[in-house]
Amino acid sequence: MHSRSPEAREALMRGKDPQRVTAATRLVCLLGHPVGHSRSPVMHNAAFLAQGIDMRYLAFDVLPEALPAAVAGLRALGVVGANVTVPHKETVVPLLDAVDPLALRIGAVNTIVNRQGVLTGYNTDIDGFLTALEQAGGRSPRGAHCLVLGAGGAARAVVAGLAQAGASDIVVYNRTASRARDLCAAAESWSMAPCHPVGESGLRRAAEEADIIVNATSLGLGDTVKLSPLPVDTIRGRQVIMDLTYGPRPTALIQRARSVGAIGVDGVEMLVQQAAGSYYLWTGRPAPVERMRDEVQNS
Ligand code: NAP
Repeated sequence: MHSRSPEAREALMRGKDPQRVTAATRLVCLLGHPVGHSRSPVMHNAAFLAQGIDMRYLAFDVLPEALPAAVAGLRALGVVGANVTVPHKETVVPLLDAVDPLALRIGAVNTIVNRQGVLTGYNTDIDGFLTALEQAGGRSPRGAHCLVLGAGGAARAVVAGLAQAGASDIVVYNRTASRARDLCAAAESWSMAPCHPVGESGLRRAAEEADIIVNATSLGLGDTVKLSPLPVDTIRGRQVIMDLTYGPRPTALIQRARSVGAIGVDGVEMLVQQAAGSYYLWTGRPAPVERMRDEVQNS
């Protein structure tokens, strides 16, 4: 049986049901496909409970073709807001009424706030990524050579974050080369750091020259935990390796990083920090970050 949180135990002792849902309870949604693995519901529901906020967070598995209807549903039902995850972060942008300038510039939204039926999109992945990187210690992005693996919504946020933090240059590798080229072309227009795509043949060299390497592909998630988009023997002890995926076991990249003395950080801290950003947008209150981290690590 799932053990009760301290807040739930205390409420029960006072004769109150902490899970009581009334007509006043408000809803926050996660829109993604798939969503079964997501830790966001446990994190946010624990935070609402810890702060006595009468909101619930539910995950909805939304197929790409159903996204417009799901977004219209957020308006129709008057939900507080939503998180948006794989594969909808980019395709949701034109469905919203307004988009925060930073999210609009990078073309990816992970948080929606519903204010009287007006849906506004934000991107809390950027600050979440930078805070997690900073907390990992080691090499700061300022003046760093960076290699980003992947060219989806998360990679866009990572490139924006690294550029914002003063990276010297950013190299992007992606399985589908055209998406890496598109991301770099876009980044050249909204970032101060030079951004170059690299193909398979230049990947090894780019990795060896990098100070910071970020895996923003889905490779490493679930059944692919032993796979890496990068030959792991390119990793050096002086590097910071951040893998945005997270799970019960370290990915091949993180394992290798730790074995050669590099700093290896998985996606948990970014997950917690981006969630804290979303939580603040929905509730206006700083999130109970330690509580959220605890929930992710122990659920
Ligand atoms: P996305 O937009 O769907 O992009 C997926 C990326 O992964 C693309 O670059 C894709 O390459 C690549 N990819 C997928 N399967 C691959 C494979 N078998 N081999 C090589 N590359 C592959 O997803 P996203 O939103 O960017 O998310 C990417 C990852 O970051 C996910 O694992 C997600 O869970 C994680 N993430 C974590 C956090 C966090 O807080 N920790 C936040 C955001 C995202 P193609 O272009 O070639 O398809």
